[in-house]
Amino acid sequence: MVRFGPAGNSSLFYDEGFKSSLEIPKFLKEKGLTAYEYQCGRGVRVKEDFCLQLKEASEENDILLSIHSPYFINLASEDKEKLEKSFNHIEKSLWAAEKMGAKVIVVHPGSIIKGKPRTESLDRAKSFLEEVLDKTKNYKDIKIGLETMGKVNQLGSLDEVLSLCLLSNRLKPVIDFGHLHARDGGLFNKKEEFIRVLEKIGEVLGEERLRDIHIHFSPIEYTQGGEKKHRTFDEREFGPRFEDFAPLIFKYNLSSVIISESQDKQTEDAILMKDIYNSLKGGV
Ligand SMILES: [Zn+2]
Repeated sequence: MVRFGPAGNSSLFYDEGFKSSLEIPKFLKEKGLTAYEYQCGRGVRVKEDFCLQLKEASEENDILLSIHSPYFINLASEDKEKLEKSFNHIEKSLWAAEKMGAKVIVVHPGSIIKGKPRTESLDRAKSFLEEVLDKTKNYKDIKIGLETMGKVNQLGSLDEVLSLCLLSNRLKPVIDFGHLHARDGGLFNKKEEFIRVLEKIGEVLGEERLRDIHIHFSPIEYTQGGEKKHRTFDEREFGPRFEDFAPLIFKYNLSSVIISESQDKQTEDAILMKDIYNSLKGGV
């Protein structure tokens, strides 16, 4: 089963008169959506009681939760203190995920160390991740998702994410197709290019892990350095386009969670993707 949902709330939620985050699952169910990525980008500031109530509301409305971890995480930092902080952000995200019943936390791998070969940053990230995995064994049922990133100077090309994910089955690739598109100057916008990505994941991590990838899909504006701004499906000049990707969900038998991060239209665009998917169901 494929699930669709937004990253955080778009204005639509408030425009329709909803206020409390605890009403989100009900709101999403009304829209026919089945997933939600709770945003902790600025820090994990949720209380246990809130998490438990959100868990209950999500189960009642069949909404599968994931958490977006703080943006401040950098797995490749040379600074010991920063690594410690990164670890705390990850551990707190895992804690909140367990209380909410979320199955994955999404982590940005970090940035490339300036003036040094990329492989050095990758190696640093690997050894730090091994430490993280070792220290968080009591959360082994929650996957740590590693996201492909939109800027060239960020750690998180497809190859880098897959290489990190080889460390453990507790790591899950989070394939952000908008980011791949932006990072590679407009590539990953055609069916053949999406196929290349999916084939690569299958080759490196195997069919089973391919079917279970976590996906972010939004149109994006980019410059030479990569990602500039998230856009919406209304703005047809920006890729990638979901209609070119959707048939591959069937071809590769994906059971992914697909999250929209469109600029303040994430709920609307998640609905659009779900509708495209449903219109193909059985017909491909
Ligand atoms: Zn992200």
